[in-house]
Formats: sequence, structure tokens, C-alpha cells
Amino acid sequence: MKTKANPNENAGQPTEIRLRGLGVSPGVAVGAIHLRDASAVPIPEYLISASQVPREINRFDTAVSAAEKQLAKLREKAASVHGASAEELFFLLEAHSQMLRSGQLREGVERRVREERQNAEAALAAEIEQILTIFDAIDDPYLRSRGDEVRQVGQRILRHLTDRAYQGFDRLSRNSLVIAEEVTPADTALMDPKRVIGFASVLGGAEGHTAVMARSLGLPAVLGVPELLRHGRSGAMMIIDGDEGLVIIDPYKETLELYRRRRASQLRANRALQRLRDLPAVTKDGVRVSLQANVELPSDVEQCVAAGAEGVGLLRTEYLFMNRHDLPDEEEQIASIRHIMHGVADGQVTVRTLDVGGEKIASALGHHLAEAANPALGLRAVRLSLRVPELLESQLSAALRANEGNRLRILLPMIVNVDEIRLVRRKMEEVTLRLTSQGLIAGETLPSLGVMIEIPGAALAADALAREADFFAIGTNDLIMYTLAIDRSDERVAYLYDPLHPAVLRLIHFAVDAARRQDKPVSVCGEMAGDARYLPFFLGLGIRELSMRPTALPRIKQRLRRLEAAACEELVSQLLSQSDSHEIKRLLNEFNG
Ligand code: PEP
Ligand code: MG
Repeated sequence: MKTKANPNENAGQPTEIRLRGLGVSPGVAVGAIHLRDASAVPIPEYLISASQVPREINRFDTAVSAAEKQLAKLREKAASVHGASAEELFFLLEAHSQMLRSGQLREGVERRVREERQNAEAALAAEIEQILTIFDAIDDPYLRSRGDEVRQVGQRILRHLTDRAYQGFDRLSRNSLVIAEEVTPADTALMDPKRVIGFASVLGGAEGHTAVMARSLGLPAVLGVPELLRHGRSGAMMIIDGDEGLVIIDPYKETLELYRRRRASQLRANRALQRLRDLPAVTKDGVRVSLQANVELPSDVEQCVAAGAEGVGLLRTEYLFMNRHDLPDEEEQIASIRHIMHGVADGQVTVRTLDVGGEKIASALGHHLAEAANPALGLRAVRLSLRVPELLESQLSAALRANEGNRLRILLPMIVNVDEIRLVRRKMEEVTLRLTSQGLIAGETLPSLGVMIEIPGAALAADALAREADFFAIGTNDLIMYTLAIDRSDERVAYLYDPLHPAVLRLIHFAVDAARRQDKPVSVCGEMAGDARYLPFFLGLGIRELSMRPTALPRIKQRLRRLEAAACEELVSQLLSQSDSHEIKRLLNEFNG
């Protein structure tokens, strides 16, 4: 939705444009726009051998189908825009799709790859240049200008071919606000909060990993803003309001003033929360809860300490594999885990094995992940680790060698049956034997081996899993996604993503009960753990360990210190007897006051 505000009051200034989207990461940021996709993609050029021809053509076809999918998503987004601009946008995107499908482009590229042995990027760039010479020769200025679209289509395919995650953000000036068609989790990992202070994009859902990363980095972000790239231009002033899901381009002076005041008051509130840092995480009736932090990037560890986290409840090791074409070797992994172990002094660190697949991409493993029809249900997470034994072996070996003071636990993502746990445990024993015989570890104690409960089937089989696993970590993000069949990163179905759906609460309850019956520790580490509204539910269920983004921790501690565990238990029995999520929400809101 777009509104133009105050048309008469700011004569001489551009009209303020307000665009609505999904506020996925709270806070307010005011700065200058950096339009992510504006820069031309560098084109690698090299000659290929005859045997590489089919692979190059296949790369080109894969890039074209990825570009087609992206355009289809954008067309649907355009349909949610009202008025004449919707139609214009739709036709433009349709024209781009037709160009993508054009036989002439495909044939030209194939000929250059086959006959001239050019790599796919170089062949595409040459073919686009040739088509542009035809446009340049046209007399009609309107038709000639359509050449720009050919160039844009070429850039779109090129970005898929060259893996645009490699465009860094390091040359940006301070206080930049990044806008783009799509921001991937890998892009987010490259954002230095000293330069990038917020971002917005056309595509993306509230619970996708990009949103999780934004919250973890404390960057205000609004995703799913259909008309963003029609109005945003590099260098223009912009406000990102992550609380309201609002983007304001060319704000009026009064709007700027209002937002600067809001930002100042947010900073004051944050400082007040920081004073809780050294107070114990204990309820009014004396129940202690271990509040830990989720770590996305090694640099998060400073924030963990600043927030007063007792340890790292979830180390997402994906960062070691993103934005590069090779795999990290064992030494690099050890150094990174040690950095985090040292950062949290004597705290516990829970290292999760690689959880790529779906929206989380690692180029070096791309050939395993590329072809799945349903990536979220395909070869990903622990399934990939078991399929590529050297990957699992190097992760386990690095974790075992970095396990100083026996403070490290190992956590397996996307577990669905006991065999997977047994296979990993066997591998861990083998690696331990090898490392002990090499004198690389002392080998007396193996780390605890836990599993994520994030697939509904795993929650319902939690009694069986609890016999094999040493601990559970409930991943509410994926648990909600798979229970309700909602893609976390798809803004079009975001309204159905409901943490309070009775099916979700019952699955969590079932898993927690199973763990407790067998005396196995259980924590929650999905986004629900960092949302104070859900705290009474977890406390009442008997959860005594929560792991969340460090920025959420002070508010959770503040709320915890005002709650009584006994009252939360009563609330939970009411909540679990309900089958209507509206009623559940009402009861919880009433309790939260
Ligand atoms: C989850 O699914 O809740 C979780 C913590 O894992 P991730 O968000 O990394 O998939
Ligand atoms: Mg998960």
C-alpha cells in the first residue's frame, strides 16, 4: 500500500512516499538508500573444454529457471499493488519473462558455449550486447529505450549465474539503508552494522532466515514491500520503521523529527534494560531459568556477553559455509568455535551441525541442494551431513577438538528418527577414537549429543528420540512451518504463520513431557523463545532453558522477573484445553495484561 502524505506543506521538497510491508525486525533507522541491485554484475570470462560444454549449458538453464521463478514471485507481488501502477508493473515483468523464455537468447548462448567454448556468463553477456546493437539501430526513441529491459533481463540471469551473494557491503558509507528485490540470509551475514543500519526488500517473509538474521543483528527491517524499487533510488533519504512495517522515502522534515525522537526514546529504553544485565534470571517465586543466546555470526558473541547470556544455546554454524565457493577446513572451524567458547568464558556452547538447504544456501554444497523439487522437504540439515560423511566428520572433529573444559554440546538439526541419532553417535565415537589415538584430544568425556525438535513427526516421536538423545532443543520456527505447511520465508502466506495454533502448542507440550519423563534437558531456541508474550507458556510447561537472539534477552529477563511460575502452570492447563487459537491468544493476552 502506498500513500503520499502532506502534499502542500513542504513545497519544493519531493513528495514523501510511504510504503507498507512486513515489519520483521523492530526499531527505527534513518539514513541514505543503497540500492542493492543497481550495480552491474562483474562478468567472469574464460574458455571451457569440450567436456565442460553440457555443464555450462546446464548452468545457464538453471539460472534462467531461477530467474523465471523470481519474476513469477514478483508478478504475484505486483498483483497486490492497487491502481494503474499495478498493471504497468505486471506488464513489465511479463515482458521480462518473455525475454527470458526467448528461443533466440537460448540458442545464441548455446552456440557461443558450444562453438566458441565461452563460459556461460561470457556467452550471455556477448549475446545481450548483440541484441542491444539491434535496439540501438532503431529510430523510434520509445522502442530504442526498451533495450534497457534486455539489459536488465541479462543482469538478472547473470546474478543467478555468478551468485550475487558475493557483492559485499564493505564500500558503503555509514548509516546506509539497503534496499533490494530480495535480501538472502547470506547477504545479511555480510552486513556490517557499523555501515548498514537497516534494510527493506520486495520479497521475503517474517520468519525466514533473513528476518531471523536481521533481528539477531539488531537491524530494523521491512520485507515484502511491493513498490519499493519503483520509488527507492540510491542516495535518497529513507526511514525504515520495523515496528510498524513502514518504509518512508524522501520524508518531510516533520516526519524526520518525529522519527529521530522515537529513536532516541528507544535507545533510552534499551539502556534501562541493560541495567538488568547482572541481575539473576529468576521468577518472583524463585524459579531459575537459564537464558542463553543464539549465535549467527562470531561477532554476535560480544552482544551475548553484553546481554548477560549464560551461554550459547544455539550456534548456527551455517556462517562458516556462506559467501564462499569452498568448504572451511577443520582448523578454520576449530578457530571459530574456540573464539566463541572463549567469548562466553565458562558458559556452555551448543554447536549445531550444518543446517543448509531450503533458503539457507552454501555454494560449495550447491550440487547436492540444487535440484530438489521441494527443498524444505529434501536433502538438507542432518540428512545432508549423513549423505556427505566428510562434512559431518570435519564438523564433529572440529567440535571435539574445540571442546575446552567440556563445555560444548553438539546439536543435530531436522532429526526425524532414532537411526539418524545412532548414525551420528557412531560417527562421533569413531572420530573420538581417531583423535585420541592421534593425541589431539584426551578423550575421556564425549560431548552431549542433542536433537532439534522441529519436525512435527519428531515431536510426536519424542519419547523414542529422548531415549537416544542427551537433550532436546525445540526449534519453533521450523516446527510451526512444517506443522502448518507454511513457508517461513514466503510473505504471501505469512498471515497463516501462527505460533499459537493449538497443533503447535500441543506438539511442544508432547515433546517437553517426553523429555521430562526421561530426565533429559529441554530448551527452546526458535524465535518464540525471544518473544516475551510466549514466556508464560514455556515457563508453565516446565521449560527452564531458553535461547534467543541476544538483543531479546534483556526484555525476556525483565518479564521473567515479574512472573510467577505457579501462575504460569495454571495458565498452561487452560491454554492446552483450548482448540481455538483466537481463544488461546485471548487468554494469553489477558494473562500478559
Ligand atoms: C528453528 O527452526 O526454530 C531453529 C531454531 O532453527 P533455524 O531457525 O536455524 O532453522
Ligand atoms: Mg530450524
